[in-house]
Amino acid sequence: MKFTSTRGTAPATSLSDAIAAGLAPDGGLYVPDALPRLASDAFTDCIKLPDVAARLLAPFFAGDALAPELDSICAEAFTFPAPLRALATPRDSVLELFHGPTAAFKDFGARFLAACMRRIIRPAMRPLTILVATSGDTGAAVAAAFHGRPEFRVVILYPDGRVSKRQAHQLGCFGGNVSALRVAGSFDDCQSMVKQAFADMPLRAWLSLSSANSISLGRLLPQMAYYAHAALSHQRTHATDLNFVVPTGNLGNALACVLARAIGLPIGRIALATNANRTLPDFFAGAEYAPRASIATLANAMDVGAPSNFERLRWLYPDAAQLRRDFPVQWVDDEAIRATIRERYARHGEVFCPHTACAIRALENLRADGADGDWCAVATAHPAKFEAIVEPLIGRHVDVPPALAQLLARPSHADPLANDYSALRAFLESSASEHV
Ligand SMILES: *Cc1c(COP(=O)(O)O)cnc(C)c1O
Repeated sequence: MKFTSTRGTAPATSLSDAIAAGLAPDGGLYVPDALPRLASDAFTDCIKLPDVAARLLAPFFAGDALAPELDSICAEAFTFPAPLRALATPRDSVLELFHGPTAAFKDFGARFLAACMRRIIRPAMRPLTILVATSGDTGAAVAAAFHGRPEFRVVILYPDGRVSKRQAHQLGCFGGNVSALRVAGSFDDCQSMVKQAFADMPLRAWLSLSSANSISLGRLLPQMAYYAHAALSHQRTHATDLNFVVPTGNLGNALACVLARAIGLPIGRIALATNANRTLPDFFAGAEYAPRASIATLANAMDVGAPSNFERLRWLYPDAAQLRRDFPVQWVDDEAIRATIRERYARHGEVFCPHTACAIRALENLRADGADGDWCAVATAHPAKFEAIVEPLIGRHVDVPPALAQLLARPSHADPLANDYSALRAFLESSASEHV
């Protein structure tokens, strides 16, 4: 399979090259040149998540240098489960994507990307610096996935004071080949500094640089696997399609669900839930698409005003009217996030992180509007990652999962960084010379 750009003017390229490049040279996002067709019967002998992943991804890897490695890449990346759990409300469930090392779904994509990059990287590119701007969860997942691999360095930029305390601890606890920089600015400022580094040709002449953001095919493609796995096992036990509500920021996780359905997996409706950042809900309600600055909410990993994967959604749905008809989209403000966390615990003993709570609230609204069938809200992070928000609302301690506890037990350090590109450049220069 070859990959082309959503903007249509970059040459078709191999999967390995598309993963190594990140963004297509015409500024678009890489998409498959044709969608394979894989219905349920293609998976009859696949039960476990890594096996489903390898079967699902085989057509995308066909003809690429990584194809013979696909089974081992999946075995390396999918080392923790993605269980479906029933909720107290009838025919509702959650897909728990937070059982990885950093307790958020981004571990799946980051680990898969690392497994691919390790096999792609040429000696001349070493050490490759992975530069990431993070609103909280991406940075830790990428750090965990690349930590201890000497052919890579990871440099993380995060907005100081705007991530949860445990998120900040995670970002700074790796050390070694991972540096955490706390920037005196917003997530958008961090992202803009990263973009400036990529555009800095004199810097790139001596520093090999790569990104790991949510537009990377190496993160997007593997995320289809847990939707496929959940929908297939639901179909086996209930003989019906599973509908999903996906809490959404940059649309990476939701797009993986949409792609899995387009390929033929037994997925019914897909609803999107955002926080008070309303770029997507406004578009789906009929307005022009209008990216804007993000606003800070309790679901901070979804504080996105310009969803980076929107271009891929438009590529799949060139007809805006059909796109708007196909997807129920709701936004959930902080007050509703708080109420959902409080009420689901009081009524049912269920505990959710603020992002998952957006999906739960959207599902409750869909049910109130008469939605039938089996619905699954996607649980993107463990509530213990956001204990400062969740614990006061439910009035009890949230147990910390073992993987997260291990990271929290390590010392953590982040260097302060001015909100100014020259400060980042100076850091990259000094740390590169240290590294040699
Ligand atoms: C990143 C993240 C999201 C949003 O995912 P997108 O792929 O950006 O839409 C939702 N919840 C959590 C916990 C996240 O870390």
